[in-house]
Amino acid sequence: MAKARRGRNSLLLESARENRILQALPRDELAAMESDLTLVECRAGQVLDSTPGEDRAYFPTSALLSPIAFLPDGHSIATRLVGPEGVAGLYAPAGREMGLNLITVCGGEAIELRREAFWRHVGQSAKLSRAVAGEMSRAVTAFVLLVACGHFHSLEQRGSRLLLNVFDHLGGGPIRISQQVMADVLGVRRGSVTSMMNILRTRRIVESRRNEVVVVDRPALEQLSCDCYGMLGETPAR
Ligand SMILES: [Zn+2]
Repeated sequence: MAKARRGRNSLLLESARENRILQALPRDELAAMESDLTLVECRAGQVLDSTPGEDRAYFPTSALLSPIAFLPDGHSIATRLVGPEGVAGLYAPAGREMGLNLITVCGGEAIELRREAFWRHVGQSAKLSRAVAGEMSRAVTAFVLLVACGHFHSLEQRGSRLLLNVFDHLGGGPIRISQQVMADVLGVRRGSVTSMMNILRTRRIVESRRNEVVVVDRPALEQLSCDCYGMLGETPAR
């Protein structure tokens, strides 16, 4: 479970409004949710839903999260990225049994709700209900497109798409991401990510240090990315 940090109520609601779904709710509806909200710090690479039977929904306020399937044979792959524009978590029990976990791709904060409280508030708010339905629709679309992307597109293409998506979610600046997390997200070995990053660095598209990537030639990165970059709808509206 992520490290919880409870502050004064007004600060909690102020933080909650950093998430666009919560920000769009009427003030009285968000205030009614307050006692069920917890602001949590999510560390890069952290598995958020590791405690069985304690499913939670996460509304990122600055963290970037991804549901990742860890298969019994050691393979893993991400299904989508969720930042301050969305909500993640609360997968069907079958998903948990198959190794679906919510991972922090880039560290930051999120608003956490227990399963029961989340669905209770969804039932009480038409606006929240519509937003959650929209998220589910986007998630299903992303899942289907990513199956095709993972099957047909090269690691360079997919890696470039991932870096572009993360770059956009963060609004620019250095990307704090480890090569192990990139490997888990892309479904490849860490050594393959190292080789891919060496290529991007040699072409002067990125600079990278330990757990940090700086995009120095965004147009070149976009040219290298597969067309899925524009299709997946992961880029947050700013
Ligand atoms: Zn693709």
